[in-house]
Order: sequence, then C-alpha cells, then structure tokens
Amino acid sequence: MKVTEHIEKANGKTLFSFEIIPPKKGKNIQELYNNIDPLMEFEPPFIDVTTSREEFIYIEKEGLFDRKITRMRPGTLGICAAIKHKYNVDTVPHVLCGGFTKEETEYLLVDCHYLGINNVMALRGDAMKGEQYFKATKGGHSYATQLVNQIQNLNSGKYLHGILDVDDKADFCIGVAGYPEKHLEAPSMKTDLKRLKEKVDAGADYVVTQMFFDNKRYFDFVEAAKKEGINVPIIPGIKPIAVNRHLQLLPQVFKIDLPESLITEVYKCKDNKQVRQVGVEWCIQQSKELLDAGVPVLHYYSMGKSDNIKAIASALF
Ligand code: FAD
Repeated sequence: MKVTEHIEKANGKTLFSFEIIPPKKGKNIQELYNNIDPLMEFEPPFIDVTTSREEFIYIEKEGLFDRKITRMRPGTLGICAAIKHKYNVDTVPHVLCGGFTKEETEYLLVDCHYLGINNVMALRGDAMKGEQYFKATKGGHSYATQLVNQIQNLNSGKYLHGILDVDDKADFCIGVAGYPEKHLEAPSMKTDLKRLKEKVDAGADYVVTQMFFDNKRYFDFVEAAKKEGINVPIIPGIKPIAVNRHLQLLPQVFKIDLPESLITEVYKCKDNKQVRQVGVEWCIQQSKELLDAGVPVLHYYSMGKSDNIKAIASALF
C-alpha cells in the first residue's frame, strides 16, 4: 500500500514509522533485524531504508595508496525486499540523484516495481565525503525535482527512451524532503519553499522533514508551506539526541538549531547514558505535542539503534 493510502486509512490517527540505514559491507543483516524486531509491536505501516553516497577509499598497494570509489552501505533495495517479506510491512527505499545515472535509476525503479515496492523517497543526496558541494553525476540528475519527474514519467508508462508498449504501468507514491530550518544551500527559506513546491508540482505525494528539536519550527514550516500552496501531508522526522557529541555534530551537518533548554540538560549529564535518557525524554515531549497537533505520522530517525526509539514509542503508542 502507498504511504498516502496508509495515512488516509488511519483516518486522522497518527501513525508510527521509522528509518533505518543499511549495514556496512560485510556485516550481518541479523543485527538490523535485532533492531527492527522491538519496534514491530508499534505496527509501523512503512519503514524507510536510506541510501548512502559512494565514497573514496584508499587501498595500500606496494607502498602507494590506490584511490577507489565504492559504496560502503549498499543493499538498500535488497533490505527493503527482505524486510517487506519478513515483517509483511511496506518499505520505502531512498532513491538518490547523486551517484546514479538516470539509466541506473530506471533499472532500480523497474526492480522496485517487480518486487511490489510502490513507495520511494526521491532525494538529491549530499555532496560526497570530502567534497564541499554536490556535483551531479554524469548522466544523472542535479535536483530532486528532476528525479520526481523521472518517476512520474514512469508512472505514465514513459521510459527514458520513449513510450514502449506498456501494459503494466508503475504507480509509485513519491516522498520528498522538506526543511523546517531551510536546506543548508538555499539562499532563503522562501526560495527553499518555492523549490519544495516545485517538487510537489512535479508529482511528490508527501514530504518528510529534516529533524528538528523545536516543534515551533515544524508548525511554522507547515503553515508557510500551506501558504505556498503545498497541500500534501508533511510528516515530521524526529530524532532523539543520543550522545554529547550530537550538540556539535547535528548543527554542523544539518545546519539546525538546538533549543537552549535541551543544551542545558545535556550539559548536566555525567555520561552518554544520561544524555541518551535526556534525548528520550525530550523526544517524548516533542512527540506528544506533535500527536496533539494531529500530525499524520511520527517518523523517527533510528540510526540503526532501536532501544531509545522503543522507549519513546512505548510512552506514546
Ligand atoms: P533538492 O530538493 O534537490 O534541493 C537541494 C538544494 O537545491 C536546496 O537548497 C534547494 O533549495 C535547491 N534547489 C532545488 N531545485 C533547484 C533548482 N532548480 N535550482 C537551484 N536550486 C535548486 N541523503 C542521502 O544521501 N541518503 C538518504 O537516504 C537521505 N535520506 C533523507 C531523508 C530525509 C527525510 C531528508 C530530509 C534528507 C535525506 N537525505 C538523504 C539528505 C538529502 O539528500 C540532503 O539534504 C540533500 O542535500 C538535499 O536533498 P533534497 O532531495 O532535499 O534536494
């Protein structure tokens, strides 16, 4: 079922969902299952699986370092299929512009269709590690809007090389990213919202937000998006702080602000066990307010560990 159909079927009840990252190459999928298992009692109608950009690795060869490009966490679609099969739950593979040609994207979408996966999250992707700016892959897309266009074309039976004799059209439900505190490269909030509107006009069915720690940011964003004419569901994406280092890391990587009172509580902690507990309590309060506001879904960034997400969900669902 499509994400939007799950939302409609819930008839105003807030759903629980979460996002996982594929294991590193060579790691067992069982660890992933061990983290998904405890969350299944909260009946997520869908689970997102991220896709990582390729990166450079350096291999020593006869005293010299050979630079190779590789994807350290491959397997997004395989994991989606495995989870769908094991738990009978819908899965949402993240599809990136960066690192993929349009042709490769088409093959990926064809595979999704054959596997009965009809939800995808269309994203541009970040700059590669070590690079300051995003560079489009040769033969790939520069912006998520173009990716949404490609997926919608496929939905109307239009493949890259023209209209074929299609008797089994894909019907993808498309999610896109939204930024309550503005995307880091956008010159202004207004411009970023216009870009979001372009994604929705191109055929995006729903939006999932970047993490935020102050709900006002989300509520203001939803209001501004509505004024811009964006009328699709806007799902809040949230994440509990888990380690002290997040205080520096999250603002640095995602260009988001942390509320003073959260920072104060983290500073009081003696170790990361206490920080994790502060993160859980903050996230429960945030989630309760979002639940009261009637958000369609509470979507958690689990980052592969589920104990804190389970503690949060147990307090809410
Ligand atoms: P876009 O919508 O293409 O926007 C990127 C920037 O370009 C924005 O500043 C926008 O304002 C601007 N822009 C858009 N269109 C134009 C235009 N025509 N001309 C000029 N400027 C334009 N990253 C991963 O690598 N893997 C993942 O699995 C992943 N999952 C994510 C899930 C969620 C819910 C979110 C919020 C982010 C995720 N990301 C992921 C991160 C995402 O890839 C980055 O934030 C990326 O920098 C932007 O992606 P986007 O799809 O929002 O890009």
